[in-house]
Parts: sequence; C-alpha cells; structure tokens
Amino acid sequence: MFHEIINKEEDLSKEEIVYLLKFSDKNELHFLYQRADEIRRQFCGDGIHLRGILDFSNYCEQNCLYCSLREENISLERYRMTPEQIIEVVRAASAQGIRTIILQSGKDTYYDTDVIAYILYQIKQSTDLAVTLSLGPRGFDEYKAWKMAGADRYLLKHETANSELFTYFTDGLIRGNERIQHLRFLKRLGFQTGTGSIIGLPNQTIEDIADDLVLSRELDVDMAVFSPFIPSAFTPLQNMQICNFDEAIKTIAVARIVLKNCHLPAVTGLDILNKAGREIALKSGANVLMPNFTPEPFLTKKRLQNFSNKRYPDYTSPQHEISVKLERLGRFLSIDRGDSLKKSHLVK
Ligand code: SF4
Repeated sequence: MFHEIINKEEDLSKEEIVYLLKFSDKNELHFLYQRADEIRRQFCGDGIHLRGILDFSNYCEQNCLYCSLREENISLERYRMTPEQIIEVVRAASAQGIRTIILQSGKDTYYDTDVIAYILYQIKQSTDLAVTLSLGPRGFDEYKAWKMAGADRYLLKHETANSELFTYFTDGLIRGNERIQHLRFLKRLGFQTGTGSIIGLPNQTIEDIADDLVLSRELDVDMAVFSPFIPSAFTPLQNMQICNFDEAIKTIAVARIVLKNCHLPAVTGLDILNKAGREIALKSGANVLMPNFTPEPFLTKKRLQNFSNKRYPDYTSPQHEISVKLERLGRFLSIDRGDSLKKSHLVK
C-alpha cells in the first residue's frame, strides 16, 4: 500500500496523505524521501532558487501566541527601516545576484498603501527583481495598488488549516477563512501566491497537517512554506515542545508528492532542529533557500527576537545560507527568478 500511494499519479486523498505522514517503518521510509526527490526533479528541475528576505519592520498589530513579534511582547526591541534604507538594501541584494526579494514585516500599517507602492515602484524601476510581499492580511484595495506598482507575488501563510487552533493561536483577532479569501483574491489579481503552515504546534494532529497540504493544493499556490514550530522566548508558548525534526522533513516530502510543481523552501528553522536540516530537506523535495538580507543593526534585533533565550544557535546570515553545499547534493544555484511553475503563469 505504501509503494502504491507514493507512486500514484492521481491526487492523493486526505486518508492517503495521513497514511504517509504517519508512516514510520524505518526500513521503508527512505523510499518516501527518494520519491519526493524524484518528483521535485521531474517538476522543478535541479536548480535551487534563492529568495532573499528583508525583514524591514518587526512591529505587529496582532498577538499570535506563537510569535515573538506579537504586540504584547514588550521585551522586544522594535525597529522600522525607512523606505530609502529598504530600497538601498534591495538594490545591493540585486547587485549580489539575488533574483527575488521578499519584503516582510508583521502587520504594520505604519507602512501605508502609498509607502509600499513607492518602495515597489522604486525597486522595479532600478532592478529586474521579482518582488514578493509578506505583510500579513491587508486591504483588497491595497493589494490592487501594490500589484499596479509592480509587486509580483504575495506570501500569506494560513498557519494551520484547523480553524479552532487558528482562532486560539491568533488570539481570535483574524479568522482563518478570511486569509483564504485574501489568497483567492490575490490570485485573481494576478499575484503569484504563497501560503504555508507551522508544523508541530501544540495540540496539532497529523490530520490537521494533512488538511494543510490539501488546502495548499486546493488554493493552487505557487509556493508553500512549511516551518517547524520553534518556541520563541517571551511568548505564551515559550515552554512548549519544539517540533520533531523527522515530522518536519516528512511533511516536506509528502508536500512534494501532493503539490508536485509548487516551490517548497527548506526553511532556516530546520537547521535549528538538525545541523544538516536544510540539506536533508533539499534531498527530500525542497527546491528553495531563503537567505536573510536584513542589514545590521536590524539583523541583530531580529536575531534577538527569536534567540534571546540562547537556546538555539543562529543561522540567519546570507553567508550561512549560501554555504549549503549545493554541488554535493548534485544541484546548482538557479539564476532565474524562480517564477511560478504553474501553467497559468508560464503563459506570459
Ligand atoms: S504571526 Fe504575523 S500577524 Fe501574528 S503576531 Fe507574528 S507577525 Fe504578527
């Protein structure tokens, strides 16, 4: 049954996804990773895309229980970069050969529609970068304005498909299905879209993770980010159990089998669970790395937000990201923008 499911051409049912996520036979498990790697090669090729992240603000108006950026975290030293600082960093990243930049912040409406549009316009005028916005749920009119200003992609993680868990972890401030509506709207506007979830949240079941994969498939997203839960200091979940590494990797492998031609990052957090975490993910279905281009002194503040309790090592520098030995994996650094692999976006 295991081999039948991993080799199935048709879409997997939720029950089959659950079966794979629960599969734990140590003598057979390597076939799952091997199959995910084959599907990655067939649908995405051997190139690894770098998507540079710029965390330009760590302010947030929300209070998600798992997140160090939550508004009530008064121990966090907050920062905001000016539009000029943001544009300068993006241009420098472009000069270093990065082809995609992700402009990321908490939900921070200090950067209003016009400010973000101005930043986008300036970046698009002076670079050929693909620009992804990761600014949380914002107004539909804002999405329209930013698309017109040149934004290519929008990353809005659904965090967990279990609506009860979502309401609990986000302190009831946002509704899960609202995010889904936003993702659908973004897609209609022509954005390449990304979603994703946190793996290993307290009280999350394997069925919930299967629902995350099914939802990502239904939304037909271009990228899906599955990040391990790592308890952040000074949050209500700081003493909870960290995500199990094997579960995180298995999720990425099953995600590749389910989502086929969707970009799947090997996120930095995997290296916190296992020193070779991202390399293992790249061999198990992942095809994207996300180096952090946030400059000093902001980078130090960002590091402190996650690692101020010193429990975890720091793996956030671009140098560390790019030092992953791609040749050793039989892979190469892609020089294209890593656009959508879906037909709707290939016909341009
Ligand atoms: S998860 Fe996002 S919306 Fe929630 S507190 Fe963190 S940055 Fe804000």
